[in-house]
Amino acid sequence: MAGKAESIAPKRRWLRLAAVLPLVGALAVAAIVALVAYRVVFELSLSATRASAGHRLDLYAASFEREVSQFANYPYVMALDGTVLALLDDPADAALRHRADLYFEALNDRIGTLDVYLLDLTGRVIASSNWDKWDSFVGRDLSYRPYFQNAHTDRVTRFYGIGTTNRQPGYFLATAIARDDRTLGIGVVKVSLGQLERSWASAESPAILSDEHGVVVLSSVPAWKYGTLTPLDDAARRQIAEAQQYNDRPLSPIGLVPLRDLGGGTRIVRLPGTAGPGGGFSTEGLFLAESRAMPETPWTLTVFTDLSEMDDLARLWAALAGLGSLLLIGLFAVWRQRRRHLRELLEARSALQRAHDHLETQVAERTAALSATNERLRREVTERERAERTLRDAQSGLVQASKLASLGQLSAGIAHELNQPLAALVTLSGNAVRFLERGDLATVRGNLERVRPLVERMGHLTGELKVFARKSSGEPQRVGLRKLVDDALFLLNHRLTRGPVAVSVDIDGGDIALWCDPNRFAQVLLNLIGNAVDAMEGGGDQRITVSARRDGSFARIDIRDSGPGLPPERLDHMFEPFFTTKAPGVGLGLGLAISAGIIRDFGGELTAANAEEGGAVFSMTIPIGPGEAT
Ligand code: ADP
Repeated sequence: MAGKAESIAPKRRWLRLAAVLPLVGALAVAAIVALVAYRVVFELSLSATRASAGHRLDLYAASFEREVSQFANYPYVMALDGTVLALLDDPADAALRHRADLYFEALNDRIGTLDVYLLDLTGRVIASSNWDKWDSFVGRDLSYRPYFQNAHTDRVTRFYGIGTTNRQPGYFLATAIARDDRTLGIGVVKVSLGQLERSWASAESPAILSDEHGVVVLSSVPAWKYGTLTPLDDAARRQIAEAQQYNDRPLSPIGLVPLRDLGGGTRIVRLPGTAGPGGGFSTEGLFLAESRAMPETPWTLTVFTDLSEMDDLARLWAALAGLGSLLLIGLFAVWRQRRRHLRELLEARSALQRAHDHLETQVAERTAALSATNERLRREVTERERAERTLRDAQSGLVQASKLASLGQLSAGIAHELNQPLAALVTLSGNAVRFLERGDLATVRGNLERVRPLVERMGHLTGELKVFARKSSGEPQRVGLRKLVDDALFLLNHRLTRGPVAVSVDIDGGDIALWCDPNRFAQVLLNLIGNAVDAMEGGGDQRITVSARRDGSFARIDIRDSGPGLPPERLDHMFEPFFTTKAPGVGLGLGLAISAGIIRDFGGELTAANAEEGGAVFSMTIPIGPGEAT
């Protein structure tokens, strides 16, 4: 169970991942497109920017060269002056020193430099243009300065540093003064680059001049001055400290981050911006840094070009391209989705059509099967109706046959019944002729009057027989029980009197109107009473009781006899056909079965039982006629 739960969880996670995956993919594609667009736009703009930056670098370099080169020859000028040479020959001469001081002061004023001074071979200042100022260099030991250590007669040594006395930064140009290939001393001119720096400050983008250690010595951004492009290593720091080049400036990095080297001294860098006041330009963000080594100096000029606009443009294009690609991907996805939806719709429709067709076929098949079944049923119903009709015909034929059989049984008695009046008629008619011949008319009349009831009785008998023998219609009608019982007893008269059988009839209220076919009910009565007579035949006390009483909408009629009763083992099968105890030719064994069927047809019931006091009791219920209900 736990294992199952564990296997479902990763599946769900996979499903979620699969749902998110297209989105991630689209975003990745958009990001790549944006990146490519950024790169393309950036590179395209970069080449144009590089060209203009190159021009700017040329201009800056030219202005630097112009500014510096105008002072380049001044150190040589000193070597030409007689006072200077004389002083170098005799540095202790105070008069010479004073003259040299005055000369340097005049020269300094004329050429517009910061200071002009002369070092002896030990590096000590022996004459200076600022001899009479508080910050006079005279007597100072400047042997630690590189321009002293590296001074040559045939060239000017350049050095940028901050004055150790007056803390004024300056560009030092030095040359060895020699006579007859013998170095006598070093002449130095200190130049201010402030003018150059000021002109840069008004430019449209930052520019810097850095020394061989990467220390910014000139900058259009004041905050960067004496900062470094890269952190200084210990050796460089030591070298700078020995030369006392930048006094005790911390020389901390300005925060330039090189991003990409484009070759040829060109790099893309990020500038951190400055806290202090800058020029009329930004010092923060992406910049193109074009660098060039300045000839005859250890310096590098770097001009920065602001790339932020270009960067913004490239970003804008990148964003547009990214969004555009997202839009395209979205449109593509929507198109695909629609296509899939359409395909599914078509598939669903064709599936529906197939199902419909299948259903129609099935309906047609079922309808055909149903019609066939229907037809078969109709045929069966017709067949059954015919069978029922045949059965009914057979039944009524049977009823009729049984009735005729009863008639057959009655026939001997009836013949006897008819014979008696006929014999009487013969006697009376013979007597009448004789008495007529004697003229005894009164006796003739008396005889003829006796003939009439005899004929009437015979007529009644034959009439009853005719009615009984008639094939009944089967239609129920309102009929009195009393008359039916009397008619039956009349037909059975001969057999009853032969016994003799005592018959008592006890009908509730004298008579009860029944709702039945009288002809058939007469057949039942004849059968039951006839059976009772048969059963009692030869017995001593022969009694038949016909009693009837109302029971709701039925009349209950009991026919009891004083015979031997019914065999108990046959009680449950009394109404089955062909059970008879009578001799062949006498009984068919159909009377009770037909009687039960007739009573059932009336809507009633016929049952058989043995009475406690002995003898059989046949009981039946028959619907009573309208208006008879108790
Ligand atoms: P059948 O009279 O032709 O024999 P029934 O169906 O009328 O046919 O009677 C079947 C049998 O039932 C008779 O043979 C007789 O044995 C028995 N039975 C009918 N009524 C009585 C009765 N009242 N008492 C004794 N037995 C009877």
